[in-house]
Amino acid sequence: MSDVFSPGERCPARIELSDLQVFWLRRRPFAALQVRRHHDCQLEFRHDGAHGDLGQRSDKVEWWVRWTLTSSAVEQGTACAAVDDDTEESAGEVVCLLFEGHPGRHSFDLDQV
Ligand SMILES: [Zn+2]
Ligand SMILES: [Zn+2]
Repeated sequence: MSDVFSPGERCPARIELSDLQVFWLRRRPFAALQVRRHHDCQLEFRHDGAHGDLGQRSDKVEWWVRWTLTSSAVEQGTACAAVDDDTEESAGEVVCLLFEGHPGRHSFDLDQV
C-alpha cells in the first residue's frame, strides 16, 4: 500500500562527472552508449543510499554512476530483472531500467518525465 504515501517521483539529484570518469567510461570494452557528462539520478525520490544513473553498457555488463554529496564512483553491475506485469501484451515487455538490487520502486513504476 506504499502507493498511497508516495507519488512515485524521481529523485532530483544531478552530478557532473570528472574528465577522468568520462574518459574511463568511454574506454569500456564493447561500450554501447554515448557517455554523458551530466547524469540525473534514476531512483525513486527519497531513496536510501547513493544516487545512481547508468553510465555505460555493454552486452553483458552495466556501469552505474553512483554518487553522494561528497563522493562519486562508477560501479559495475547488472540490470534489474523486474518486468512490469501490468502492461498489455500488445505493448511489449516493459523492463526495469535500473540496476540489480536498487532501492525504491522499479523504473516503470516511476513517473516518466
Ligand atoms: Zn537519487
Ligand atoms: Zn527494478
